[in-house]
Amino acid sequence: MFESSLKQLGDALRAKKISSVELTQLYLDRIAQLNPGLNAYVTLNTEASLAQAKAADAMLAGGDAQAMTGIPVAQKDIFCAKGWRTTCGSKMLDNFVAPYDAHVIEQFNRAGAINLGKTNMDEFAMGSSNETSYFGAVKNPWDNARVPGGSSGGTAAAVAARLCAAATGTDTGGSIRQPAALCGISGLKPTYGVVSRYGMIAFASSLDQAGPMGRCAEDLALMMNTMAGFDERDSTSLQRDKEDYARDLDKPLNGLRIGLPKEFFAEGLGSDVAKAVEAAIAEYKKLGATVVEISLPNTRLSIPVYYVLAPAEASSNLSRFDGVRYGYRAPDYTDLADMYEKSRAQGFGAEVKRRIMIGTYVLSHGYYDAYYIQAQKIRRLIAQDFVEAYKHCDVIMGPTSPSTAFKLGEKGDDPVQMYLSDIYTIAVNLAGLPGMSIPCGFGDNDMPVGLQIIGNYFDEARMLNVAHQYQLATDWHSRAPQI
Ligand code: GLN
Repeated sequence: MFESSLKQLGDALRAKKISSVELTQLYLDRIAQLNPGLNAYVTLNTEASLAQAKAADAMLAGGDAQAMTGIPVAQKDIFCAKGWRTTCGSKMLDNFVAPYDAHVIEQFNRAGAINLGKTNMDEFAMGSSNETSYFGAVKNPWDNARVPGGSSGGTAAAVAARLCAAATGTDTGGSIRQPAALCGISGLKPTYGVVSRYGMIAFASSLDQAGPMGRCAEDLALMMNTMAGFDERDSTSLQRDKEDYARDLDKPLNGLRIGLPKEFFAEGLGSDVAKAVEAAIAEYKKLGATVVEISLPNTRLSIPVYYVLAPAEASSNLSRFDGVRYGYRAPDYTDLADMYEKSRAQGFGAEVKRRIMIGTYVLSHGYYDAYYIQAQKIRRLIAQDFVEAYKHCDVIMGPTSPSTAFKLGEKGDDPVQMYLSDIYTIAVNLAGLPGMSIPCGFGDNDMPVGLQIIGNYFDEARMLNVAHQYQLATDWHSRAPQI
């Protein structure tokens, strides 16, 4: 059961080979056994999960089951889920129980999926290693001395260790794709606006986007069918016709034009990662694709641009945590200003404070034009590079991350080194494009390598097709860690 695809699980549930209660219990038992070593989940609510499973069994018995009905899905702890503790990896929200459902949670509930638990993450989704979580680091299931990537590290570890059938993540600068790469799973960050951000705790609103993480592209397509869709409560949600993201999975790849950005294969890329990615490209040629070299000249500026814009937006978004309305409040204070100061000083961790300070600085009078406005202009140029590139290719491929999973603690003291982990993913968020990562081999240290596939706007169905055809021809996606 733990190796079954979502389609196989759905078929087994509908054929009554297993009930949702039995399946959910199997996963809960596995979580009880393995989560203490991995720290992938921060909150479980066995009673709530099993009650949902019971309701799903009733739906299945009544014959009104959908593709995801009865399937246990883990939710990144950034999504508000009614009655569930929702922490966003922070002491600030340690005791926060959400009074409402995020749109994504609502969609899964409506589909009859089971919320199996809330997964660990970097505090407020700021990080690339899951080490900034107030609830402690997550261990990579392939090697417990290494990080799972971040910020959706708990989700990536849970999927890799078979502690859920599939799960959700969010990606502001790479947080779905990078942990997917480091844990040897598949993950998709959709086009900005395709999945509603309502009830998803905000980090940098012009970049944040939720997406699915799972074992293979086919699973991601089923997850997208549930997650995506217009929601008027998110002003950036796009009003588009409902899509079947699985519709193109079986198309052959003859004639597919793959763009390889020369900037993604230059200095800084680990030679073992390069080798695995090049082997994947060779496989694509066998599947009928052709390769063109392209250039994304402005993407070299994506890290500095992101580290102006994302902190600017975060400093504004995180001002709501003031100790007054909800979240942590310092126990002792003298007056109102002191209460704000102490609550925020004690409730936020070091990385979050660093971002708030950078953000406040770049938005302040005198620096706004020099930093924030400049960064916005370069963001436009970065997006324009992709428009130009897509005149010559259908999808873009390259590495997801410059290296495989690094050791816990290895980059903790050097924020800039940590920021560089996202060098190939961030431009995609700045442009609002869809991007995914699929496993394509192993590096020198036997850790998984991710292949990044970047699509044009709204081209998720094609990207899933491109990933699925590769997964039919290779078996990297079905390798699982020995635990
Ligand atoms: N690692 C990046 C950061 O720290 C991206 C995080 C994300 O995508 N949520 O901001």
